[in-house]
Amino acid sequence: MEKQINVTRSSMPPFEEYVNEIKDLWDSRWLTNSGAKHQKLEKELKKYLGVENLSFYSNGHLALETALNALHLHGEVITTPFTYASTTQAIVRCGLTPVFCDVEPEWYTMDPNKIEALVTEKTCAILPVHVYGNVCDDKKIEAIAKKHHLKVIYDAAHAFGVKVNGKGVGALGDIAMYSFHATKVFHTIEGGGLAYHDSGLRKELEALKMFGMYGKEDAELIGSNAKMTEFQAAMGLCNLRHVDEWIKQRKAAVERYRERLSDVPGIGLCKIQKNVESNYAYFPVYFDEKVFKKNRDEMADRLAKHNIFARKYFYPLTSEFTVYQGRFPIQKTPVAYNASRHILTLPLYSELTTEDVDRICDIILEK
Ligand SMILES: *Cc1c(COP(=O)(O)O)cnc(C)c1O
Repeated sequence: MEKQINVTRSSMPPFEEYVNEIKDLWDSRWLTNSGAKHQKLEKELKKYLGVENLSFYSNGHLALETALNALHLHGEVITTPFTYASTTQAIVRCGLTPVFCDVEPEWYTMDPNKIEALVTEKTCAILPVHVYGNVCDDKKIEAIAKKHHLKVIYDAAHAFGVKVNGKGVGALGDIAMYSFHATKVFHTIEGGGLAYHDSGLRKELEALKMFGMYGKEDAELIGSNAKMTEFQAAMGLCNLRHVDEWIKQRKAAVERYRERLSDVPGIGLCKIQKNVESNYAYFPVYFDEKVFKKNRDEMADRLAKHNIFARKYFYPLTSEFTVYQGRFPIQKTPVAYNASRHILTLPLYSELTTEDVDRICDIILEK
């Protein structure tokens, strides 16, 4: 049997390093509730990400729901259907109505030229996604938000460490959500963070993960329990020491993929974004069956026969989910629909070797 390669593989620090990091927890017995590890990670990540304020959560999804709660939004949120389930589910679970904007065809981020037509008197916010780590057109999004008095919340789950013009993407918008899930570029096993400029938001963002309590007895808000534990924070402290090296290794794999696939007729790769320092989170490939002869699904099956498991990120669109059947017309986002039918996301992780990439490309290019 050929070596199994999955779309991703969690990066891990050396075992001894993690064991060493969690040792003091046996003395302190402080296992969760913003302990020493949590506070240290917060300080270090603020610096690493270049953001002014940062709050942690048990996962990215609850971080996103908390952001929507803390901004006291009501009505419609303009968002993208070409994303992971979490983005849309967070909007709906917060009692808001998603209004789906199409994506642009080069990077699959929200098409800024199609936003304004969707603004109504009920619109309260825009929730774009830096999908695959590709950075949204924040200048245009900000201008529209300003004109119509809308909040901007970025789903930056894919964009850990990504910088535009030297600035971390977490500094864009009112609030940006990072996911620290095990499969992301940087992780705390499960975990998430919110970055924001307005330090006035902090008290509420923190209380919302503590049952809505500012103090120890009374609850002033309708909160949840979404705290990050010390074991998660300890994993983050270890991983932060290695993440630059991991990104470098991912970059080498991406460069090899590009060498092998960029000039192949019928294969489309994302263009490199100007002034963006990438984190090489994903490697999406567009298969045009009219030129390439094999379609996306056939290619996924062919790779699977060789024990290589690429993923159809993102298929289906979130607006097509069974739970939303009939509520959102998919004809209104044709570029996103087309992307969901043609893109295969190839394996990419720090330990993926040049030989692995070559094996994957050989199978793809086999006639
Ligand atoms: C991973 C992810 C999330 C949710 O993050 P979790 O930490 O897994 O809850 C949200 N949005 C996108 C686009 C993601 O990929």
